[in-house]
Amino acid sequence: MKILVSGGAGYIGSHTVLQLVQAGHDVVIVDNFSNSQPAVIGRLEALAGRHLPVHAFDLLDEDKTEHLFATEGFDAVIHFAGLKAVGESVEKPLDYYENNLGSTFSLVRAMRRHGVDKLVFSSSATVYGTDQAGATEDRPTFATNPYGWTKVMQEQILRDIAVADPTLRFALLRYFNPVGAHASGTIGENPSGIPNNLMPFIAQVAVGRRERLNVFGDDYDTPDGTGVRDYIHVEDLAAGHVAALEALTSTEEPVSVWNLGSGRGTSVLELLHAFERAVGHELPYEVVARRPGDVAVSYADPAKANRELGWQTTRSVDDMCADTWRWQQQNPNGYDDA
Ligand code: NAD
Ligand code: UDP
Repeated sequence: MKILVSGGAGYIGSHTVLQLVQAGHDVVIVDNFSNSQPAVIGRLEALAGRHLPVHAFDLLDEDKTEHLFATEGFDAVIHFAGLKAVGESVEKPLDYYENNLGSTFSLVRAMRRHGVDKLVFSSSATVYGTDQAGATEDRPTFATNPYGWTKVMQEQILRDIAVADPTLRFALLRYFNPVGAHASGTIGENPSGIPNNLMPFIAQVAVGRRERLNVFGDDYDTPDGTGVRDYIHVEDLAAGHVAALEALTSTEEPVSVWNLGSGRGTSVLELLHAFERAVGHELPYEVVARRPGDVAVSYADPAKANRELGWQTTRSVDDMCADTWRWQQQNPNGYDDA
């Protein structure tokens, strides 16, 4: 298939682009590089062993989006592009609604004008709101912050569009906590500024860019009191996209929802200790107050994806830490070193 990957220069998009190429698909990337760097493309091309076409523009620009679809003839779209920082979404809700919903409008309009019927959409466990433990896809969706609402709303908008045009096939993929990096250590997560997420923060402590990890609360109702999450290796997540895309070619369902997670919970301290094993020494941490808005426990019930996609996670938390550490060591300042 010829696939347009929106946000293909980003963290999850870049790993997925590579697996799509390896699965024999033709890939075209569109990205405005608002949260990624052009240097990733050269790394991807080296890994893929071929040139990758990249269109650097903002999907809010409907004319450019239309022109791209008019000239390329896509079979499917994988839509990663979006803003994703929860805290920032509280401060700049309008930017989040405009960018995340607007990019989807622009893409889906162009898809419909040009007869592209398959879309894989990046959703999130955040659509389960405060009810994220053992979540199955049939739970009601709601959100606790503007970022989360953009995902709930985009899911609903896509469902409504699929009702109006039954030829369409949409996959809503609800990711749990993506971490890790490509085994080569040449592509990985490249947060700008101080990382909001646990794994990149630990990695920056390990490489000496941060003094210590702040553990946000150790008085949750969990085995060690720290927050529990379902970490999924980005390579397993990328494989889930390839499987979902293939499933869309044969399903009768207009909209398919799949959780992509391991089904296992790992606490903050367990992840820290796994990272210490990868690094070979202890890492400094301090327990501080809970982070407002955090749930205690989040993990997927991935049975539906396991069954319907023939997909499951294959990489352990130790693999996730080893691969993150390789990426962090080889690129202490992310793509800034490129
Ligand atoms: P990322 O920021 O690394 O990648 C997103 C890419 O989209 C970036 O390269 C950015 O420059 C681009 N982009 C953003 N707005 C754009 C626009 N208007 N036009 C063109 N390009 C645009 O993020 P990621 O971690 O790879 O996440 C990918 C998707 O998965 C996002 O939609 C995110 O909300 C979702 N998601 C991520 C996580 C996570 O923890 N990383 C969890 C659940 C869901
Ligand atoms: N966390 C932490 N210190 C940090 C970042 C995160 O203790 O610097 C905790 C956070 O409270 C949560 C877990 O690590 O329990 C995962 O947080 P992350 O932001 O990575 O994912 P999310 O909470 O969005 O699922």
